[in-house]
Amino acid sequence: MSSTDMPRPKPSVLEIAAYVPGREKVDGAAKVYKLSSNETPLGPSPKVAEAIAENSADLAIYPDGSAHVLRDAIARAHGLNSGNILCGNGSDELLSLLCQTYLGPGDEGVFTEHGFLVYKIQILAAGATPVSVPDTDGLVADVDQILAAVTEKTKIVFLANPNNPTGTYIPVSEVRRLHAGLPSDVVLVLDAAYAEYVRRNDYEAGIELVSSHPNVVMTRTFSKIHGLAGLRIGWMYAHEAIIDACNRVRGPFNVNALAIIAGAAAIGDRAHIDRAVAHNDLWLGKVCDALEGLGLKVTPSVGNFVLVHFPQTPGKTAAEADEYLGSRGFVLRRVAGYGLPDALRMTIGSEEANLGVIDALTTFMAR
Ligand code: PMP
Repeated sequence: MSSTDMPRPKPSVLEIAAYVPGREKVDGAAKVYKLSSNETPLGPSPKVAEAIAENSADLAIYPDGSAHVLRDAIARAHGLNSGNILCGNGSDELLSLLCQTYLGPGDEGVFTEHGFLVYKIQILAAGATPVSVPDTDGLVADVDQILAAVTEKTKIVFLANPNNPTGTYIPVSEVRRLHAGLPSDVVLVLDAAYAEYVRRNDYEAGIELVSSHPNVVMTRTFSKIHGLAGLRIGWMYAHEAIIDACNRVRGPFNVNALAIIAGAAAIGDRAHIDRAVAHNDLWLGKVCDALEGLGLKVTPSVGNFVLVHFPQTPGKTAAEADEYLGSRGFVLRRVAGYGLPDALRMTIGSEEANLGVIDALTTFMAR
């Protein structure tokens, strides 16, 4: 069989660089601390295991395709209408659904230069054209540049706020300015995967923006603050017309039975969420101070992770630091794929993990 007989993917698919997740483990280290994917060190609420034990899902039957128990729990926790909520198999799936629903060949999807990689992947998968917009020198989303990149072909603009992997944030006044500058037929996707970690009241204002405009979507996840990354649960909040359009496209049973039970229990446990936020507040500050004390630059972060910049001096580079940390069991995230070859992203972990990284980097920088 010659290669011309082979099935050929759409041309845009061949432009996709497949997503490579953060490493899970390293060889040779006695104990591994995974600080590569921004999971919470506290794990899920204890109420999750209780709810799963009590509600033992019948795994032989399909889950409720509308995930109404989960949507109702989210609506209650956030004071929203469940008709404006759609759940997904992680927020990744929702980003994909939005691209499939609103983008086709000839359309453009806009995102920031150091934004989450899935936007570009899903824009290309939908057959549309990705448009990457430079950030400010401080790696912050630049609203003027985003607006300047919008053309009559633009159908979606993605903004992760806080952004991954930079941890940078723009206040709701800037998000409003962005929205006000967009044509009303462009969907503005506010990816709020790290919303709960932001220590200001902007988030409720972000939700208000969705409530008052039919072209704004907010995506959220259970993978970060709720400690349920393994179950794959995301949700989005949007106008009924957007929910209706995405419901036409999504798979019929996209959220599994255990995820529905677990998510509903997790989102109701305010005390656990508060504990995770307090842990992060304490350790984000301590980790950043310690790293700066070692002469490393950190990008100011409002998330549960921090971008650490390494010098290009041989012996002290990000690649060498990654190697060194890995050999001691500390798995951080290389972010060269995000255009940041001289940095590593570190999730704020347990006290033991954080102190371990600081200790290892102290030795690394002094050697
Ligand atoms: N958006 C951002 C900004 C993220 O960092 C992540 C997780 N890496 C996601 C979305 C996807 O999260 P999930 O699919 O686990 O809900």
